[in-house]
Amino acid sequence: MNTEKLILYWSRRDFRLRDNPALYSALEDSTNEKVPFLSLFVLEDYMLDANPEFQFGYSSRYFLSQALPIYAKEFTDFLIVRGKGAETILTISKHYDVTVYVNEDVYIDFYKQIKKLRSHSIKIKIFKDFLTINRETKSIQGNYYSIFTPFKKAVWNEFLTSEVKPVANPRSASYLHTDGITNLKHILTIVETTSESIWNVCSKNRIIKIGNHTIDLTTLTPVPNLSHWYVSEKDALEIFSLYLKEHLLSGYNLVRDSLEMDTENIKVGHHILYGKTSKISVALAWGLVSSRTLRAMIQAHFGDDFSNISSATSSAGALSFLSELIWREFYKYLYMHNTDLMDIEFQQKFRGKVDWVEDSIALHRFTTWIKGETGYPIVDAAMKQVAETGWMHNRSRMIVASVLTKNFGVDWRWGQEYFRSILIDLDETSNNGGWQWGASVGADPKPIRIFNAELQAKNHDASGAYLKRWLGERDNITPIVEHTIAREDALRRYGLLKVQPRDF
Ligand code: FAD
Repeated sequence: MNTEKLILYWSRRDFRLRDNPALYSALEDSTNEKVPFLSLFVLEDYMLDANPEFQFGYSSRYFLSQALPIYAKEFTDFLIVRGKGAETILTISKHYDVTVYVNEDVYIDFYKQIKKLRSHSIKIKIFKDFLTINRETKSIQGNYYSIFTPFKKAVWNEFLTSEVKPVANPRSASYLHTDGITNLKHILTIVETTSESIWNVCSKNRIIKIGNHTIDLTTLTPVPNLSHWYVSEKDALEIFSLYLKEHLLSGYNLVRDSLEMDTENIKVGHHILYGKTSKISVALAWGLVSSRTLRAMIQAHFGDDFSNISSATSSAGALSFLSELIWREFYKYLYMHNTDLMDIEFQQKFRGKVDWVEDSIALHRFTTWIKGETGYPIVDAAMKQVAETGWMHNRSRMIVASVLTKNFGVDWRWGQEYFRSILIDLDETSNNGGWQWGASVGADPKPIRIFNAELQAKNHDASGAYLKRWLGERDNITPIVEHTIAREDALRRYGLLKVQPRDF
């Protein structure tokens, strides 16, 4: 029986000191109970291998290799270990009476690992972080919400008043003694806390697996250039403060859909703010900031708690932005109550019922879409944007998802998989929600939307700046599928031929 106690902070996607519930409590308990503290990140094989069975894409591997060492520097000791989370903790528990502090992360096998640890009687404290609002929020009828607007009304005040934990100070902790750390370093597979060491153990492959197809992206697109992305909490907070200071949030509701403005850059200090949206999705996806911190920064900036959705007059832009943060909550909430959503449609009536095009046609259309050579200029521009930068504007994500699923008849799961492989701001639940929405099979059902790509370009890129930025002076390409034919085909595929579609 090990009698020496140890408080172990198990970091996952929470690379921040501000409002980090697990870290904050671990440090507090360590101080109050006079128990040594240790922090840990486990580099699991799936994060390092280009494993087509579970996609942890090139952009994610790159980001992790850059962000993790910066976070680790905030600590006196921070172990980066290769292995499996649960097994690593079990190894440590052979030497210490461990209590694990971890922020909830519902992806992949988090709960399987927790179950395993509990079956070995490891003490675990799991902190609410993934979702800010209460996951058990239900309508008056006692049902979980499946439509956004009533959900937003139900959680608005809770979201606005949720607790923001103070900044944690890991330097103040009393760490496990040097002998203990040296011993652990002998029995665990330690990776040095430098970007080079982590990047060295990462596969550089870019492979996706869809059904029976294994697609090597190196044959379709160049390696994305990701070096311009911010990777630390400090930079994320600075960028968002500048975004507020430059008054970009005030008109957010009016410009958030503009693709032409997405090409405009403002240089502030050593940061470049480009476009009119915040680009804070990268920070949220990796836990460099919490949505609660952003919300509190907005409230402080506007001097308004926004507790009244309809009467707040100070900024329609801020209200609209807060609403988007609640969309993010909504997709997480839906996933928590429907953990098979990554694979199946939210709407039961479409499960196995949409007549997607046959495999060989789908493969050709899908790879042409990835390359940005579909002949739909706005789609091709957006696909070039994501291939080159790992990020795509929300309006573009909606357009490319609609065109891939409706016009080209390709299963939404294929698009979801490609985005997993390429997005630097990959958030599995927002990605899934976006794809199910784009394919009109998700929650919050509306009449089937078939975006007219040409009209979308006219409305959101009137000057053509976005097309020019991503396609240069490219000659027109004949569309691989004509929009007019595609619309009818799509309706047939969804079994909705009688319904009149609307052009968006
Ligand atoms: P801003 O406009 O500045 O918005 C601020 C924040 O609000 C965003 O960072 C994001 O956290 C949240 N938000 C904004 N729009 C949405 C939305 N439609 N759904 C959910 N949250 C939203 N977002 C991701 O963070 N990761 C993904 O993997 C992802 N995949 C998507 C896939 C598809 C097919 C679609 C249609 C949307 C997807 N989104 C995803 C949502 C949205 O496109 C991005 O959050 C947004 O473009 C990020 O840019 P920004 O930070 O500048 O956004």
